Amino acid sequence: MYSSSTFDLSKNCAYHSNIQGHDTEECPALRNNIQNMIDKGKIIVQQGPLNHSTVDAVIVQGDTT
Ligand SMILES: [Zn+2]
Repeated sequence: MYSSSTFDLSKNCAYHSNIQGHDTEECPALRNNIQNMIDKGKIIVQQGPLNHSTVDAVIVQGDTT
């Protein structure tokens, strides 16, 4: 279901360790997972003021669900 514009075999995702075609920063599942953790207050996102493309996420509570 990947479109040719987003599927890139040179990319790979840390979240989907066996899947190529997207990199970690554009992983929809990981984004969704992180957003859920943010919403639940389980994660703190620290964003550098000088580089908005870099997001350092700190997991406060471990939760694999
Ligand atoms: Zn992924």
